Amino acid sequence: MPTQVSAERLEAITSSILQPTAANGVQGRTGVFEEVIAGLTAMITRHRPDGAEVLRFPPVMSRALLEKSGYLKSFPHLLGCVSSMTGTESKIRALIEGKASGQEWVDALAATDLVLTPAACYQVYPIIAARGDVPQTGVIVDVESYCFRREASSELGRMQAFRMREYVCIGAPETALAFRESWKAKAEQMANQLGVPFTLAPASDPFFGRAGKLMAVNQVEQALKFELLIPVNSEEAPTACMSFNYHQDHFGTTWGLRTDDGAVAHTACSAFGLDRLTIALFATHGLDLEAWPGHVREALSL
Ligand code: 5GP
Ligand code: ZN
Repeated sequence: MPTQVSAERLEAITSSILQPTAANGVQGRTGVFEEVIAGLTAMITRHRPDGAEVLRFPPVMSRALLEKSGYLKSFPHLLGCVSSMTGTESKIRALIEGKASGQEWVDALAATDLVLTPAACYQVYPIIAARGDVPQTGVIVDVESYCFRREASSELGRMQAFRMREYVCIGAPETALAFRESWKAKAEQMANQLGVPFTLAPASDPFFGRAGKLMAVNQVEQALKFELLIPVNSEEAPTACMSFNYHQDHFGTTWGLRTDDGAVAHTACSAFGLDRLTIALFATHGLDLEAWPGHVREALSL
Protein backbone atom coordinates (compact mmCIF):
# COMPACT_ATOMS: atom_id res chain seq x y z
CA MET A 1 0.00 0.00 0.00
CA PRO A 2 1.54 3.37 -0.98
CA THR A 3 1.78 5.67 2.05
CA GLN A 4 2.25 8.85 0.02
CA VAL A 5 -0.98 9.52 -1.85
CA SER A 6 -0.32 10.54 -5.46
CA ALA A 7 -1.09 14.08 -6.58
CA GLU A 8 -3.32 12.70 -9.38
CA ARG A 9 -5.45 10.79 -6.89
CA LEU A 10 -5.83 13.82 -4.60
CA GLU A 11 -6.79 15.94 -7.58
CA ALA A 12 -9.40 13.39 -8.68
CA ILE A 13 -10.94 13.31 -5.18
CA THR A 14 -11.05 17.11 -5.13
CA SER A 15 -12.60 17.55 -8.55
CA SER A 16 -14.62 14.43 -9.35
CA ILE A 17 -15.40 12.35 -6.21
CA LEU A 18 -16.29 15.70 -4.65
CA GLN A 19 -17.65 18.55 -6.75
CA PRO A 20 -16.10 21.94 -6.05
CA THR A 21 -18.46 24.90 -5.72
CA ALA A 22 -17.89 28.65 -5.88
CA ALA A 23 -17.35 28.63 -2.10
CA ASN A 24 -13.99 27.50 -0.77
CA GLY A 25 -14.35 24.41 1.47
CA VAL A 26 -17.95 23.73 0.40
CA GLN A 27 -18.28 20.73 -1.88
CA GLY A 28 -21.00 18.69 -3.54
CA ARG A 29 -20.97 14.99 -2.61
CA THR A 30 -21.30 12.51 -5.48
CA GLY A 31 -23.18 9.21 -5.40
CA VAL A 32 -20.01 7.18 -4.94
CA PHE A 33 -18.93 9.42 -2.03
CA GLU A 34 -22.33 8.95 -0.39
CA GLU A 35 -22.12 5.17 -0.83
CA VAL A 36 -19.02 5.19 1.33
CA ILE A 37 -20.62 7.58 3.84
CA ALA A 38 -23.56 5.17 4.13
CA GLY A 39 -21.20 2.22 4.69
CA LEU A 40 -19.29 4.11 7.37
CA THR A 41 -22.51 5.20 9.03
CA ALA A 42 -23.70 1.59 9.21
CA MET A 43 -20.31 0.43 10.51
CA ILE A 44 -20.33 3.02 13.30
CA THR A 45 -23.91 2.05 14.15
CA ARG A 46 -22.83 -1.60 14.51
CA HIS A 47 -20.47 -0.39 17.26
CA ARG A 48 -23.20 1.61 19.04
CA PRO A 49 -23.03 0.96 22.80
CA ASP A 50 -26.03 -0.91 24.22
CA GLY A 51 -28.73 1.40 25.49
CA ALA A 52 -27.45 4.48 23.63
CA GLU A 53 -30.13 7.05 22.82
CA VAL A 54 -30.19 8.27 19.21
CA LEU A 55 -30.48 12.01 18.49
CA ARG A 56 -30.14 13.69 15.08
CA PHE A 57 -29.99 17.44 14.60
CA PRO A 58 -30.30 19.96 11.77
CA PRO A 59 -27.17 22.04 11.07
CA VAL A 60 -28.33 25.01 13.13
CA MET A 61 -28.70 25.44 16.87
CA SER A 62 -29.72 28.01 19.46
CA ARG A 63 -27.29 30.92 19.70
CA ALA A 64 -28.03 31.35 23.42
CA LEU A 65 -27.20 27.70 24.03
CA LEU A 66 -23.88 27.96 22.25
CA GLU A 67 -23.02 31.18 24.10
CA LYS A 68 -23.71 29.43 27.41
CA SER A 69 -21.53 26.49 26.35
CA GLY A 70 -18.48 28.80 26.38
CA TYR A 71 -17.79 28.33 22.67
CA LEU A 72 -17.13 32.02 22.10
CA LYS A 73 -14.34 32.07 24.68
CA SER A 74 -12.50 29.29 22.89
CA PHE A 75 -13.40 29.41 19.18
CA PRO A 76 -14.96 32.76 18.15
CA HIS A 77 -12.92 32.66 14.92
CA LEU A 78 -14.63 29.45 13.73
CA LEU A 79 -18.26 30.32 14.47
CA GLY A 80 -20.85 31.06 11.82
CA CYS A 81 -24.00 32.91 12.85
CA VAL A 82 -27.30 32.95 10.95
CA SER A 83 -28.34 36.47 9.97
CA SER A 84 -31.51 37.64 8.31
CA MET A 85 -32.94 40.83 6.83
CA THR A 86 -34.47 43.39 9.13
CA GLY A 87 -36.21 46.70 8.44
CA THR A 88 -39.28 47.92 6.65
CA GLU A 89 -40.44 46.50 3.32
CA SER A 90 -39.44 49.67 1.47
CA LYS A 91 -35.97 49.71 3.03
CA ILE A 92 -35.37 46.02 2.24
CA ARG A 93 -36.70 46.42 -1.32
CA ALA A 94 -34.40 49.40 -1.97
CA LEU A 95 -31.43 47.43 -0.67
CA ILE A 96 -32.04 44.28 -2.71
CA GLU A 97 -32.75 46.29 -5.85
CA GLY A 98 -29.49 48.20 -5.37
CA LYS A 99 -31.33 51.52 -4.99
CA ALA A 100 -30.11 52.41 -1.50
CA SER A 101 -27.13 54.66 -2.16
CA GLY A 102 -23.87 53.35 -0.77
CA GLN A 103 -25.54 50.36 0.85
CA GLU A 104 -25.73 46.71 -0.09
CA TRP A 105 -28.40 44.22 0.92
CA VAL A 106 -26.01 42.64 3.43
CA ASP A 107 -26.05 45.93 5.35
CA ALA A 108 -29.62 45.11 6.41
CA LEU A 109 -28.65 41.79 7.98
CA ALA A 110 -28.91 41.25 11.71
CA ALA A 111 -27.95 38.24 13.82
CA THR A 112 -30.83 35.87 14.59
CA ASP A 113 -31.26 33.48 17.51
CA LEU A 114 -29.48 30.76 15.49
CA VAL A 115 -25.86 29.79 14.87
CA LEU A 116 -24.43 27.07 12.64
CA THR A 117 -23.65 24.05 14.82
CA PRO A 118 -19.86 23.74 15.27
CA ALA A 119 -19.83 20.28 16.94
CA ALA A 120 -22.58 17.69 17.23
CA CYS A 121 -22.36 17.07 20.97
CA TYR A 122 -23.10 20.67 22.08
CA GLN A 123 -26.82 20.07 21.55
CA VAL A 124 -26.89 16.99 23.78
CA TYR A 125 -25.86 18.30 27.22
CA PRO A 126 -28.77 20.69 27.95
CA ILE A 127 -31.29 18.09 26.77
CA ILE A 128 -29.94 15.46 29.17
CA ALA A 129 -29.54 18.03 31.97
CA ALA A 130 -33.22 18.98 31.72
CA ARG A 131 -34.20 15.41 32.58
CA GLY A 132 -32.50 15.38 36.00
CA ASP A 133 -29.69 13.28 37.49
CA VAL A 134 -27.87 10.70 35.39
CA PRO A 135 -26.68 7.34 36.77
CA GLN A 136 -23.01 7.24 37.78
CA THR A 137 -22.63 4.42 35.24
CA GLY A 138 -23.44 6.97 32.56
CA VAL A 139 -25.90 7.94 29.88
CA ILE A 140 -24.75 7.34 26.30
CA VAL A 141 -26.03 9.35 23.34
CA ASP A 142 -25.49 8.63 19.63
CA VAL A 143 -25.62 12.01 17.90
CA GLU A 144 -25.06 13.31 14.38
CA SER A 145 -25.18 16.76 12.86
CA TYR A 146 -23.86 18.68 9.91
CA CYS A 147 -21.31 21.04 11.43
CA PHE A 148 -19.87 24.35 10.26
CA ARG A 149 -16.49 25.88 11.00
CA ARG A 150 -15.19 29.01 9.32
CA GLU A 151 -11.96 27.39 8.13
CA ALA A 152 -9.73 29.49 5.88
CA SER A 153 -7.51 26.75 4.44
CA SER A 154 -8.42 25.09 1.17
CA GLU A 155 -6.49 21.80 1.63
CA LEU A 156 -8.40 18.59 0.94
CA GLY A 157 -10.25 17.50 4.08
CA ARG A 158 -10.54 21.00 5.51
CA MET A 159 -14.20 21.68 4.87
CA GLN A 160 -16.38 24.48 6.14
CA ALA A 161 -19.39 22.15 6.37
CA PHE A 162 -19.09 18.46 7.25
CA ARG A 163 -20.95 15.65 9.02
CA MET A 164 -19.94 14.68 12.53
CA ARG A 165 -21.17 11.50 14.21
CA GLU A 166 -20.47 11.18 17.93
CA TYR A 167 -20.95 8.87 20.88
CA VAL A 168 -21.27 10.98 24.03
CA CYS A 169 -21.00 9.74 27.62
CA ILE A 170 -22.29 11.63 30.67
CA GLY A 171 -21.61 10.05 34.07
CA ALA A 172 -19.12 9.74 36.93
CA PRO A 173 -15.54 10.90 36.16
CA GLU A 174 -14.22 7.33 35.95
CA THR A 175 -17.15 6.34 33.69
CA ALA A 176 -16.50 9.18 31.23
CA LEU A 177 -12.76 8.53 31.18
CA ALA A 178 -13.17 4.76 30.74
CA PHE A 179 -15.62 5.42 27.88
CA ARG A 180 -13.09 7.67 26.16
CA GLU A 181 -10.32 5.09 26.59
CA SER A 182 -12.47 2.24 25.29
CA TRP A 183 -13.27 4.25 22.16
CA LYS A 184 -9.60 4.86 21.45
CA ALA A 185 -9.17 1.08 21.30
CA LYS A 186 -12.34 0.42 19.28
CA ALA A 187 -11.42 3.12 16.77
CA GLU A 188 -8.04 1.51 16.16
CA GLN A 189 -9.82 -1.77 15.37
CA MET A 190 -12.17 0.09 13.03
CA ALA A 191 -9.27 1.79 11.24
CA ASN A 192 -7.64 -1.63 10.77
CA GLN A 193 -10.87 -3.00 9.30
CA LEU A 194 -10.93 0.00 6.95
CA GLY A 195 -7.38 -0.79 5.82
CA VAL A 196 -6.12 2.76 6.37
CA PRO A 197 -2.66 3.63 7.73
CA PHE A 198 -3.12 5.62 10.94
CA THR A 199 -1.61 6.97 14.12
CA LEU A 200 -3.38 7.76 17.37
CA ALA A 201 -1.85 10.82 19.03
CA PRO A 202 -2.46 13.37 21.80
CA ALA A 203 -3.96 16.51 20.29
CA SER A 204 -5.28 19.97 21.06
CA ASP A 205 -8.11 22.10 19.74
CA PRO A 206 -7.39 25.24 17.65
CA PHE A 207 -8.16 27.66 20.53
CA PHE A 208 -8.39 31.36 19.68
CA GLY A 209 -5.57 33.84 20.16
CA ARG A 210 -2.49 33.98 22.35
CA ALA A 211 -4.22 32.67 25.50
CA GLY A 212 -5.41 29.80 23.33
CA LYS A 213 -1.85 28.55 22.92
CA LEU A 214 -1.64 27.98 26.67
CA MET A 215 -5.03 26.25 26.69
CA ALA A 216 -3.79 23.92 23.95
CA VAL A 217 -0.64 23.09 25.94
CA ASN A 218 -2.75 22.30 29.03
CA GLN A 219 -5.06 20.13 26.96
CA VAL A 220 -2.15 18.01 25.74
CA GLU A 221 -0.49 17.87 29.19
CA GLN A 222 -3.72 16.64 30.76
CA ALA A 223 -4.26 14.15 27.89
CA LEU A 224 -7.80 15.45 27.31
CA LYS A 225 -7.86 14.97 23.53
CA PHE A 226 -6.57 12.27 21.20
CA GLU A 227 -6.96 12.07 17.44
CA LEU A 228 -6.85 9.25 14.95
CA LEU A 229 -4.85 10.62 12.03
CA ILE A 230 -4.70 9.25 8.49
CA PRO A 231 -2.28 10.51 5.82
CA VAL A 232 -4.19 12.27 3.03
CA ASN A 233 -2.33 15.38 1.88
CA SER A 234 1.00 14.27 3.31
CA GLU A 235 2.53 11.81 5.73
CA GLU A 236 4.11 14.63 7.73
CA ALA A 237 0.77 16.31 8.40
CA PRO A 238 -1.83 13.52 8.51
CA THR A 239 -5.53 14.41 8.69
CA ALA A 240 -7.54 14.11 11.94
CA CYS A 241 -10.45 11.82 11.10
CA MET A 242 -11.71 10.92 14.59
CA SER A 243 -11.26 12.51 18.01
CA PHE A 244 -11.60 11.20 21.56
CA ASN A 245 -12.28 13.87 24.11
CA TYR A 246 -12.56 14.02 27.90
CA HIS A 247 -14.15 17.35 28.93
CA GLN A 248 -13.81 16.75 32.69
CA ASP A 249 -16.56 18.80 34.43
CA HIS A 250 -16.78 21.57 31.77
CA PHE A 251 -20.23 20.70 30.38
CA GLY A 252 -21.38 19.21 33.71
CA THR A 253 -20.77 22.53 35.51
CA THR A 254 -22.13 24.62 32.63
CA TRP A 255 -25.42 22.71 32.40
CA GLY A 256 -25.83 21.58 36.02
CA LEU A 257 -25.44 17.93 35.01
CA ARG A 258 -25.28 15.72 38.13
CA THR A 259 -24.86 12.06 38.82
CA ASP A 260 -27.28 10.37 41.24
CA ASP A 261 -24.80 10.75 44.13
CA GLY A 262 -25.09 14.55 43.78
CA ALA A 263 -21.65 15.07 42.20
CA VAL A 264 -21.08 17.13 39.05
CA ALA A 265 -21.16 14.79 36.04
CA HIS A 266 -18.15 14.48 33.76
CA THR A 267 -18.48 14.06 30.00
CA ALA A 268 -16.57 12.52 27.12
CA CYS A 269 -17.18 12.10 23.42
CA SER A 270 -15.77 10.15 20.53
CA ALA A 271 -16.29 11.96 17.24
CA PHE A 272 -16.13 10.56 13.71
CA GLY A 273 -15.62 13.02 10.88
CA LEU A 274 -17.64 11.16 8.24
CA ASP A 275 -16.54 13.26 5.26
CA ARG A 276 -12.88 13.16 6.27
CA LEU A 277 -12.95 9.40 6.83
CA THR A 278 -14.48 8.99 3.38
CA ILE A 279 -11.81 11.19 1.80
CA ALA A 280 -9.14 9.16 3.63
CA LEU A 281 -10.63 5.92 2.27
CA PHE A 282 -10.54 7.20 -1.33
CA ALA A 283 -7.01 8.51 -0.77
CA THR A 284 -5.85 5.12 0.54
CA HIS A 285 -7.70 2.70 -1.71
CA GLY A 286 -8.20 4.67 -4.90
CA LEU A 287 -11.16 5.95 -6.87
CA ASP A 288 -12.70 2.64 -7.97
CA LEU A 289 -14.79 1.10 -5.18
CA GLU A 290 -14.74 -2.28 -6.92
CA ALA A 291 -10.95 -2.37 -6.67
CA TRP A 292 -10.94 -1.77 -2.89
CA PRO A 293 -9.67 -4.71 -0.77
CA GLY A 294 -12.35 -7.32 -0.07
CA HIS A 295 -12.21 -6.90 3.73
CA VAL A 296 -12.70 -3.13 3.39
CA ARG A 297 -15.66 -3.58 1.02
CA GLU A 298 -17.12 -6.05 3.48
CA ALA A 299 -16.66 -3.72 6.47
CA LEU A 300 -18.46 -0.98 4.50
CA SER A 301 -21.14 -3.31 3.05
CA LEU A 302 -20.14 -2.18 -0.47
P1 5GP B 1 -13.05 18.07 16.69
O1 5GP B 1 -14.24 18.49 17.47
O2 5GP B 1 -12.21 17.04 17.38
O3 5GP B 1 -12.25 19.23 16.17
O4 5GP B 1 -13.63 17.40 15.37
C1 5GP B 1 -14.14 16.11 15.36
C2 5GP B 1 -13.93 15.52 14.00
O5 5GP B 1 -14.65 16.29 13.03
C3 5GP B 1 -12.49 15.58 13.53
O6 5GP B 1 -11.73 14.48 14.00
C4 5GP B 1 -12.66 15.53 12.03
O7 5GP B 1 -12.80 14.22 11.56
C5 5GP B 1 -13.94 16.29 11.81
N1 5GP B 1 -13.58 17.65 11.40
C6 5GP B 1 -13.11 18.66 12.16
N2 5GP B 1 -12.86 19.74 11.38
C7 5GP B 1 -13.14 19.40 10.11
C8 5GP B 1 -13.07 20.07 8.86
O8 5GP B 1 -12.66 21.21 8.73
N3 5GP B 1 -13.46 19.35 7.77
C9 5GP B 1 -13.90 18.08 7.86
N4 5GP B 1 -14.25 17.45 6.74
N5 5GP B 1 -13.97 17.43 9.01
C10 5GP B 1 -13.61 18.07 10.12
ZN1 ZN C 1 -18.11 16.12 21.09
